[in-house]
Amino acid sequence: MSQLKKSWVDSANSAETPFPLNNLPYGVFSTAGSEPRCGVAIGDMILDVTALEDEYFEYSAEPVFTSGMWNEFMDLGSEVWAEFRSKLNEMLAEGSPYQSEIEEHLVPMADAELLMPFAVSEYTDFYAGRQHAANMGAILRGSPDLPANWLHIPIGYNGRASSVVISGTPIHRPNGQRKAPDAEMPSFGPSMRLDIELEMGAIVGKPSEFGQPITVDEADDMIFGYVLLNDWSARDIQGWEYQPLGPFQGKAFGTSISPWIVTAAALEDFRAPTPEREKELLPYLDGSRDGLYDIELQVLMQPEGGDTASVVGETNYTRMYYSAAEQLCHHAIGGCGMNVGDLLGSGTISGPTKTEYGSLMEMSWAGREPFTLDTGETRTFIEDGDTLTLRGTAKGDGFQIGFGDCVGKILPAVKWPK
Ligand code: MN
Repeated sequence: MSQLKKSWVDSANSAETPFPLNNLPYGVFSTAGSEPRCGVAIGDMILDVTALEDEYFEYSAEPVFTSGMWNEFMDLGSEVWAEFRSKLNEMLAEGSPYQSEIEEHLVPMADAELLMPFAVSEYTDFYAGRQHAANMGAILRGSPDLPANWLHIPIGYNGRASSVVISGTPIHRPNGQRKAPDAEMPSFGPSMRLDIELEMGAIVGKPSEFGQPITVDEADDMIFGYVLLNDWSARDIQGWEYQPLGPFQGKAFGTSISPWIVTAAALEDFRAPTPEREKELLPYLDGSRDGLYDIELQVLMQPEGGDTASVVGETNYTRMYYSAAEQLCHHAIGGCGMNVGDLLGSGTISGPTKTEYGSLMEMSWAGREPFTLDTGETRTFIEDGDTLTLRGTAKGDGFQIGFGDCVGKILPAVKWPK
């Protein structure tokens, strides 16, 4: 395990900062309404790499950071990823000769608005948390037994890139069609079972060719970085629509991601194995590396006007059964081409006990067991005005690596008919 790397940016040297020199996550920001700029978080500052591109980061004929998205940089390939990262380390390390030249391009994070760090090409969401799948089975089908395919296939569905928004974007409670079990007819209206899903999002930084399968190790090399991902879910809409083709409108109204792309390189020290296989995987799903990461995860909930956010769930990314590399390999194995900027949601991450669940559906056992917030209020599902926050931390020796909070506030449903 590596130690804290010291920087001349003082705030980056604290054991509590999510953004020490060991992290260097990539984001997009604007100040006072400026055009979006690419930046790297260091302590409580952002290094403006768009401003520094001409002089220090010229990797291609055309500039890549003026777009205000990280896609073009990702497209330059993993050798450039490594070169850029090593240059940043050199520039920001304690005693760096670059300090006087680049200091003026540090922007206080407090003065910046964080924007979408990359353009999402396509979005796929998986269902790869073992405990979550067992819980959903117990809740919905009366048995924790997994579907027959679950231990053999990373189950997923193709979502909508247009539904993915940056942390801080408010989400309207969706209107939709749902049917109570004892009702004769479905009805239309605001979802009454609005939920979250605590997930990690893996970002594809290297494409695969249409028609060509990939291995798990190749898939691992294609993953540029990770964000926290909240797959907002309308359980009543989902429950009525999902058979036989899977989730649709119950998932299409919003998916929030945290603002900073934490690179796979920054997480390398935190690699962890997937759990012991309960059924042997088919050989194409075998990789040679530890595919998960030891990232502690939290769900926090704060009611409108409440002065504290309550931690309602705590778990770890190591609770996944399938890694992002296994999911990506499976995704491409039949010939589906993967693109730079594709986003893969891990599936809800839940641990074995009630305090470790990653959705309200599980925390309240489908609404049957309300839970209590620190404010004294109780909840089963989300109420209008509630703010939900996901937080993730990889803990090193005297330092930690954070993602920036993934926050979303629920607003009342849009009036319909208009
Ligand atoms: Mn999901």
